[in-house]
Amino acid sequence: MKSVVELLSEMIRIPSNSAVSNRPVVEYAARVLQGVGWSVRELPYKDAAGVEKVNLIAAPPGHNAASPDVDLVFMCHTDTVPYAADWANALEPVLKDGNLHGCGACDVKGFLACLLVAISQSDPGKLPDGLRLVLTAEEEIGCIGASHLVADDVLRPRRMVIGEPTSLRPARAGKGYCLAEVTVWGKEAHSAHPQQGVSAIYNAARLINAIEEYATQLAGETHSFFDPGFTTVNIGTIEGGTAKNIVPGVCRFQLEWRPIPGQSPNAVFASTEKIIERLHALDPEFRAEIKPLRQQPGFETVADAPLVRKMEALTGRPAISIPFGSEASIFAPIAEEVIVFGPGDMRTAHSSRECVPVSELDEAVACLSSLLKAG
Ligand SMILES: [Zn+2]
Repeated sequence: MKSVVELLSEMIRIPSNSAVSNRPVVEYAARVLQGVGWSVRELPYKDAAGVEKVNLIAAPPGHNAASPDVDLVFMCHTDTVPYAADWANALEPVLKDGNLHGCGACDVKGFLACLLVAISQSDPGKLPDGLRLVLTAEEEIGCIGASHLVADDVLRPRRMVIGEPTSLRPARAGKGYCLAEVTVWGKEAHSAHPQQGVSAIYNAARLINAIEEYATQLAGETHSFFDPGFTTVNIGTIEGGTAKNIVPGVCRFQLEWRPIPGQSPNAVFASTEKIIERLHALDPEFRAEIKPLRQQPGFETVADAPLVRKMEALTGRPAISIPFGSEASIFAPIAEEVIVFGPGDMRTAHSSRECVPVSELDEAVACLSSLLKAG
């Protein structure tokens, strides 16, 4: 049997950024699983560009991968973010100072390699009922594969362990992730005669000031398990106007917010719509529109949930919250208990520093083996 480092190295060598088909990674994992008697169910779909993507549900020997009501799901995405052109070893893993470096090393092929080793080492006759391994596509560009599983109603888990790098700390809560595009319209005119036009940029500035003011009010609704412990708002990009001597006719910006668990992911969207209505009422020439691009809620599993307690005991580490988005947002409304867990540190991910400590891979295998056995 291959070691966890060998398995992970082989998977890092498979190109898998979200734009290409994830089938090669899924087939690699399926071969390992089928080799130890697991059955697999492929759920292919076409992505927005017409490329085939595959979700996969795998069940232990003697169990049916088609039944949606299951007890414990281990979920892992199979795509990675694109890597920088100057990262020569992105797909050629390097072992250095106890860390395995490569694209996907911790986000999140490391967790998958650990799961595959833990499953291969386990006694198939001793695996509990209702156990599943689920692989998903297109997590990095908006949890699209996981959303397909929910929309198609093919998976209704009671408990979930979702792989993401948490340095082996069980994460029981995370903020949501929401994004919208705001368009402000004006009227173009020669800048020597600004009174004949309406500046979309001046109006966007008014709107942005109002959003910034509103964002400070969001700090009033706090959640002590997070730092910062409130919903944050960011305007990350803005563009507008066509030339220095033209009153700008259009200005667009992206509005992003990360809602604390318990707050509707729609709250900031609805408030921004109200601000737009208010500004329009004050000045009929103010025209703007907000279009939702993503609305994923936060998630929170209660501190004394049995799965939280079990993971804390297995790892010897207290539960944490995570500041990044994950598929937990998609499944938390369905599953009773959701944990995000995995080897490596997300602060190295999405960069050429990405790596995973080999010691954490070994520890994760031991931890996942216990969890597989105990259920
Ligand atoms: Zn990830």
